[in-house]
Amino acid sequence: MRIGFGYDVHRLVDDRPLILGGVEVPHDKGLSGHSDADVLLHAIADALLGAAALGDIGTHFPDSDPAWAGADSLMLLESVVQSVRDAEYAPHNVDATVVLERPKLRPYIDSMRENVSSSLGVPMDCVSLKATTNEGLGAIGQEKGAQAHAVCTLQPA
Ligand code: MG
Repeated sequence: MRIGFGYDVHRLVDDRPLILGGVEVPHDKGLSGHSDADVLLHAIADALLGAAALGDIGTHFPDSDPAWAGADSLMLLESVVQSVRDAEYAPHNVDATVVLERPKLRPYIDSMRENVSSSLGVPMDCVSLKATTNEGLGAIGQEKGAQAHAVCTLQPA
Protein backbone atom coordinates (compact mmCIF):
# COMPACT_ATOMS: atom_id res chain seq x y z
CA MET A 1 0.00 0.00 0.00
CA ARG A 2 1.30 3.49 -0.90
CA ILE A 3 -0.03 6.82 0.35
CA GLY A 4 0.02 10.12 -1.56
CA PHE A 5 -0.83 13.71 -0.75
CA GLY A 6 -1.81 16.50 -3.15
CA TYR A 7 -2.47 20.21 -2.75
CA ASP A 8 -3.56 22.87 -5.23
CA VAL A 9 -4.81 26.44 -5.28
CA HIS A 10 -6.29 28.60 -8.05
CA ARG A 11 -7.46 32.21 -8.13
CA LEU A 12 -11.15 33.08 -8.49
CA VAL A 13 -11.82 35.51 -11.34
CA ASP A 14 -14.73 36.91 -13.35
CA ASP A 15 -15.72 35.40 -16.70
CA ARG A 16 -14.62 31.84 -16.06
CA PRO A 17 -16.80 28.79 -15.32
CA LEU A 18 -16.37 27.25 -11.86
CA ILE A 19 -15.45 23.62 -12.51
CA LEU A 20 -14.87 21.35 -9.54
CA GLY A 21 -14.61 17.59 -9.68
CA GLY A 22 -15.57 17.77 -13.36
CA VAL A 23 -18.88 19.49 -12.51
CA GLU A 24 -19.73 23.02 -13.63
CA VAL A 25 -21.02 24.71 -10.48
CA PRO A 26 -23.24 27.78 -11.08
CA HIS A 27 -21.44 30.83 -9.63
CA ASP A 28 -20.58 34.43 -10.52
CA LYS A 29 -16.84 33.61 -10.63
CA GLY A 30 -14.63 30.77 -11.79
CA LEU A 31 -11.08 29.55 -11.29
CA SER A 32 -8.31 30.89 -13.49
CA GLY A 33 -5.66 28.62 -14.93
CA HIS A 34 -4.14 27.19 -18.07
CA SER A 35 -6.47 24.16 -18.09
CA ASP A 36 -10.07 24.25 -16.82
CA ALA A 37 -8.42 24.99 -13.42
CA ASP A 38 -10.27 22.20 -11.60
CA VAL A 39 -8.44 22.61 -8.31
CA LEU A 40 -10.01 19.49 -6.80
CA LEU A 41 -9.02 17.14 -9.62
CA HIS A 42 -5.52 18.66 -9.67
CA ALA A 43 -5.03 17.90 -5.97
CA ILE A 44 -6.30 14.35 -6.50
CA ALA A 45 -4.01 13.87 -9.54
CA ASP A 46 -1.03 15.09 -7.50
CA ALA A 47 -1.91 12.72 -4.66
CA LEU A 48 -1.97 9.78 -7.11
CA LEU A 49 1.33 10.82 -8.71
CA GLY A 50 2.84 11.39 -5.27
CA ALA A 51 1.83 7.93 -4.04
CA ALA A 52 3.60 6.38 -7.04
CA ALA A 53 6.55 8.83 -6.79
CA LEU A 54 5.88 9.90 -10.39
CA GLY A 55 6.40 13.65 -9.98
CA ASP A 56 3.53 16.13 -10.20
CA ILE A 57 1.00 17.38 -12.74
CA GLY A 58 3.16 20.43 -13.44
CA THR A 59 5.78 18.14 -14.96
CA HIS A 60 3.27 15.85 -16.72
CA PHE A 61 1.14 18.70 -18.13
CA PRO A 62 3.30 21.87 -18.21
CA ASP A 63 1.34 25.13 -18.42
CA SER A 64 3.84 26.26 -21.08
CA ASP A 65 2.40 23.59 -23.40
CA PRO A 66 -0.51 24.87 -25.54
CA ALA A 67 -1.80 21.27 -25.76
CA TRP A 68 -3.18 21.67 -22.21
CA ALA A 69 -4.83 25.07 -22.72
CA GLY A 70 -8.43 24.79 -21.50
CA ALA A 71 -7.87 21.05 -20.92
CA ASP A 72 -10.62 19.02 -19.28
CA SER A 73 -9.04 17.97 -15.99
CA LEU A 74 -10.99 14.70 -16.01
CA MET A 75 -8.86 13.80 -19.06
CA LEU A 76 -5.70 14.85 -17.18
CA LEU A 77 -6.79 12.72 -14.21
CA GLU A 78 -7.42 9.72 -16.47
CA SER A 79 -3.98 10.15 -17.99
CA VAL A 80 -2.47 10.23 -14.49
CA VAL A 81 -4.36 7.05 -13.58
CA GLN A 82 -2.87 5.42 -16.68
CA SER A 83 0.64 6.48 -15.59
CA VAL A 84 -0.03 4.98 -12.16
CA ARG A 85 -1.23 1.74 -13.79
CA ASP A 86 1.87 1.70 -16.03
CA ALA A 87 3.90 1.78 -12.79
CA GLU A 88 1.92 -1.32 -11.69
CA TYR A 89 -0.21 0.36 -9.07
CA ALA A 90 -3.97 0.85 -8.95
CA PRO A 91 -5.94 3.55 -7.09
CA HIS A 92 -7.61 2.21 -3.96
CA ASN A 93 -9.27 5.17 -2.26
CA VAL A 94 -9.16 8.95 -2.16
CA ASP A 95 -10.23 11.53 0.40
CA ALA A 96 -10.21 15.21 -0.54
CA THR A 97 -11.38 18.56 0.79
CA VAL A 98 -12.14 21.72 -1.21
CA VAL A 99 -11.79 25.02 0.63
CA LEU A 100 -14.08 27.61 -0.95
CA GLU A 101 -16.09 30.40 0.64
CA ARG A 102 -19.03 30.34 -1.78
CA PRO A 103 -21.14 28.71 -3.17
CA LYS A 104 -22.17 25.72 -1.06
CA LEU A 105 -20.95 22.59 -2.84
CA ARG A 106 -23.09 19.98 -1.09
CA PRO A 107 -25.64 19.67 -3.96
CA TYR A 108 -22.82 18.80 -6.38
CA ILE A 109 -20.65 16.52 -4.25
CA ASP A 110 -22.18 13.23 -5.38
CA SER A 111 -21.82 14.15 -9.06
CA MET A 112 -18.16 14.98 -8.39
CA ARG A 113 -17.73 11.64 -6.58
CA GLU A 114 -19.23 9.82 -9.58
CA ASN A 115 -16.75 11.53 -11.92
CA VAL A 116 -13.75 10.73 -9.71
CA SER A 117 -14.94 7.17 -9.12
CA SER A 118 -15.21 6.52 -12.85
CA SER A 119 -11.88 8.20 -13.69
CA LEU A 120 -10.05 6.22 -11.00
CA GLY A 121 -11.88 2.95 -11.68
CA VAL A 122 -12.86 2.57 -8.02
CA PRO A 123 -16.30 2.25 -6.40
CA MET A 124 -18.09 5.35 -5.11
CA ASP A 125 -17.53 4.25 -1.51
CA CYS A 126 -13.77 4.62 -2.11
CA VAL A 127 -14.18 8.31 -3.04
CA SER A 128 -14.72 10.81 -0.23
CA LEU A 129 -15.09 14.49 -1.15
CA LYS A 130 -15.73 17.24 1.36
CA ALA A 131 -16.12 21.00 1.21
CA THR A 132 -15.48 23.64 3.81
CA THR A 133 -15.19 27.41 3.96
CA ASN A 134 -12.19 29.26 5.39
CA GLU A 135 -14.46 31.11 7.85
CA GLY A 136 -13.74 34.41 6.09
CA LEU A 137 -10.04 34.22 6.98
CA GLY A 138 -7.21 35.09 4.59
CA ALA A 139 -7.29 35.16 0.79
CA ILE A 140 -9.53 32.10 0.48
CA GLY A 141 -11.94 33.60 3.03
CA GLN A 142 -12.01 36.82 0.98
CA GLU A 143 -13.08 34.78 -2.06
CA LYS A 144 -9.85 35.39 -3.97
CA GLY A 145 -9.39 31.69 -4.67
CA ALA A 146 -10.02 28.08 -3.84
CA GLN A 147 -7.79 25.38 -2.39
CA ALA A 148 -7.97 21.61 -2.42
CA HIS A 149 -6.17 18.96 -0.36
CA ALA A 150 -6.24 15.26 -1.20
CA VAL A 151 -4.83 12.00 0.09
CA CYS A 152 -5.02 8.68 -1.71
CA THR A 153 -3.83 5.13 -1.42
CA LEU A 154 -2.59 2.85 -4.16
CA GLN A 155 -2.42 -0.92 -4.13
CA PRO A 156 -0.27 -3.17 -6.31
CA ALA A 157 -2.03 -3.60 -9.68
MG1 MG B 1 -3.82 23.36 -10.64
